[in-house]
Amino acid sequence: MTVPFKSAMDRLKASIRDVPDFPKPGIVFKDITPILTDGQLFRLAVTIFTERYQRKSVERIVAIDARGFIFGGALARHLGVGLTIVRKKGKLPYKSHQIEYALEYGQGTLEMHIDGVMKHQRVVIIDDLLATGGTAEAAARLVELCGGEIVEFAFLVELGFLKGRERLAKYPVFSAITY
Ligand code: AMP
Repeated sequence: MTVPFKSAMDRLKASIRDVPDFPKPGIVFKDITPILTDGQLFRLAVTIFTERYQRKSVERIVAIDARGFIFGGALARHLGVGLTIVRKKGKLPYKSHQIEYALEYGQGTLEMHIDGVMKHQRVVIIDDLLATGGTAEAAARLVELCGGEIVEFAFLVELGFLKGRERLAKYPVFSAITY
């Protein structure tokens, strides 16, 4: 399936739900679950990513906890490459690298298994949404601790006004939908 780019984006954008004051007062949470519950829209979202990366010699998808796992898993399956999960502190069973980071609404630590990415492996890092870029930057540092090469960051949604793209300025960044 080839995606008709503009109208596909419009359909996806229209289905994202704003939830004010979640998880904290003043935050407008972009709820992407209506995309997941609509089979056509979910397929569309995954197809956008698949078509973008299928000829870019990507060797590993690194998906960020937790909604990144949904798109990352589907994308890895379509590309036929492995999936590595970056998780919040204390969830991974094996030896892990650890990076502390700041995010739009708090502080956190991200972890990735020490063998999650091989040296020189070509990686796409995926998450549902780019806000300030703190989470994505931490994931990039985890990939780089393993010697991986970041082909691109992939997001379904970008909150442009939070300037996460500037924080990730040394990497290519793709987002399907921008606010
Ligand atoms: P940041 O590190 O500020 O770029 O935040 C990105 C991470 O937090 C992603 O994993 C998002 O799922 C989540 N996130 C941050 N802000 C929002 C928001 N307004 N709506 C939905 N998810 C958000």
